[in-house]
Amino acid sequence: MSHLEHVVVIGAGLGGVRTVKQLRSAGFEGAISLVGAEPHAPYDRPPLSKQLLTGACSPKGIVLLGADALKGLNVSMHLGVPAVALHEGAVELADGTTIEADAFVIATGAAPRKLPGQPDGVHALRTLEDSLSLRSALEDAMSLLVVGGGFIGAEVASGAVDRGLQVTVLEALPVPSHRAFGSEVGVVYGRLIAEGGGDLRLGAKLTRFVDSTTVELAEGERLTADVVLVGIGAEPALDWLHREGVNTTNGIACDSSGRVLGAPGVWAVGDVAAWEDPLRGGHFRYEHWTSAVEQAAIVACDIVGAEPPEPTVPYFWSDQFGLKIQGLGRTELGDSVAALQGEGLSGGAIKGTVAGYFAGDRLVAVVGFGAAKWVVRYRVLVDKGAERAEVFALK
Ligand SMILES: Cc1cc2nc3c(=O)[nH]c(=O)nc-3n(C[C@H](O)[C@H](O)[C@H](O)COP(=O)(O)OP(=O)(O)OC[C@H]3O[C@@H](n4cnc5c(N)ncnc54)[C@H](O)[C@@H]3O)c2cc1C
Repeated sequence: MSHLEHVVVIGAGLGGVRTVKQLRSAGFEGAISLVGAEPHAPYDRPPLSKQLLTGACSPKGIVLLGADALKGLNVSMHLGVPAVALHEGAVELADGTTIEADAFVIATGAAPRKLPGQPDGVHALRTLEDSLSLRSALEDAMSLLVVGGGFIGAEVASGAVDRGLQVTVLEALPVPSHRAFGSEVGVVYGRLIAEGGGDLRLGAKLTRFVDSTTVELAEGERLTADVVLVGIGAEPALDWLHREGVNTTNGIACDSSGRVLGAPGVWAVGDVAAWEDPLRGGHFRYEHWTSAVEQAAIVACDIVGAEPPEPTVPYFWSDQFGLKIQGLGRTELGDSVAALQGEGLSGGAIKGTVAGYFAGDRLVAVVGFGAAKWVVRYRVLVDKGAERAEVFALK
């Protein structure tokens, strides 16, 4: 069992809260402090672009750690005060407080990327305030322009179409979400947005904002909407972390237990962390809800010296245009894509489609559109990197 006396968790979002809970359930009896930049009780982010935005739930409904749960965990909370530096054995907060401890877990998440010259009135979506401000802007709007064809923008677009708004989605590449899906499945995803009622403009390069409601494209065309949202991805939130010897090229480089390389006594989880993948080599950062949860459990076990849970393959989901999209594994490792279920890849109905990504003969990922039952069944095959013949036998 751990000999540590005090663990400080920096970042009070999903990864931070789960780390605290897992430390206690793994038997850690020492002091725990949780530091968070935002003033609110820790909350969950997926509903920000879904139920909270559409009004199907309230801010109370997305709280991750309420007052009662906190009491039971015996945690010292520092909310509304961001960490500004991490020294050896101490974290420094914006209000001048220094907290000393013998272990630190960094869980500061990510912050939305901005475009050059992005005016203040243009929306982004990462925080509770962002979601509430977007919701109130959409209430009086007739039109929405989404810059970027990623999941968060498309989820907002989907909700806005349902409310009867005229919705345009600008995507600079020939298919939306190319990084997540690649070309062939990106085409299916683009069809989902377009068939769902979004005016998807592919290869559309924004050159500048005229103001907070008008953008100019490369050919000089101007587009205006009542509300403009930029959803072009997020950067790990680590500009506060000035620590020599730590690699922060794309997230904080960690080993496969979440220990930060070059910083003994420090771990990192969630969107900010790039963990080593011992099976495939290299460091990878995932902005997936389940990755933050799984990493928190592994780190807590590592800190207390308990047996960690087995890591699973990366998993994400997104709800939009009436379908649940799910991805299992690492699509970027695939060198070919094949239809495993449904007709979407050959231009037919998107619902029920499952695409398999293969590296040579081995299955490395699947993506499903409204095909949850099938995605579950392929999990074991992605986990073990099954050969093509076994994968197709599931047909
Ligand atoms: C709108 C939206 C919708 C999403 N939908 C899905 C989905 O459908 N499916 C899915 O798989 N994933 C989804 N995600 C991703 C998922 O929510 C994240 O992967 C998850 O929240 C990561 O947890 P985290 O703890 O790393 O980061 P966060 O939950 O972002 O928590 C980080 C916390 O650290 C705080 N912080 C930042 N800097 C500092 C500092 N210097 N000091 C102290 N605190 C700091 C932040 O304020 C924040 O509260 C969505 C994300 C967003 C934004």
